[in-house]
Amino acid sequence: MTSNIRCGCCGYNYQRRISSAKKPYHFWSCRTKQNKGAKFCPSKNIKEWQIKEIASDVLGLADFDEEQFSKEIDHILTTEFQLDFVFQNGKVVQRTFERHENPRKVEWTDEMRQALSKKLKGRKREKREQKSNHDTRNDK
Ligand SMILES: [Zn+2]
Repeated sequence: MTSNIRCGCCGYNYQRRISSAKKPYHFWSCRTKQNKGAKFCPSKNIKEWQIKEIASDVLGLADFDEEQFSKEIDHILTTEFQLDFVFQNGKVVQRTFERHENPRKVEWTDEMRQALSKKLKGRKREKREQKSNHDTRNDK
């Protein structure tokens, strides 16, 4: 996927970027827009999970498969909120991504992370207790 997203506004490739948000995520943005600003290219940024989700849909896959993707797709052309998936065999499938606002997979919230780390800590404590029980048994 890496170099195969082309900007329909200026013709340059999209580049993979990482957001500076609290919870960083990967997104793709036009090179011109990144370097010169939206004045020179008004194209839209696309979040990576959006591309993957739509690509999976276009390819008829349950989950995104990088290998399958590069085998079938020559490049993606973006125009505003539209993605044109151009297949190696010349077929073109058009999709919009503006409505794909909610990820299919649950995004991790701070609460969920805390709950998980608590769970993991609890598990470690259990192990330690088991070990000390075992040690006492050995002493007998
Ligand atoms: Zn552009």
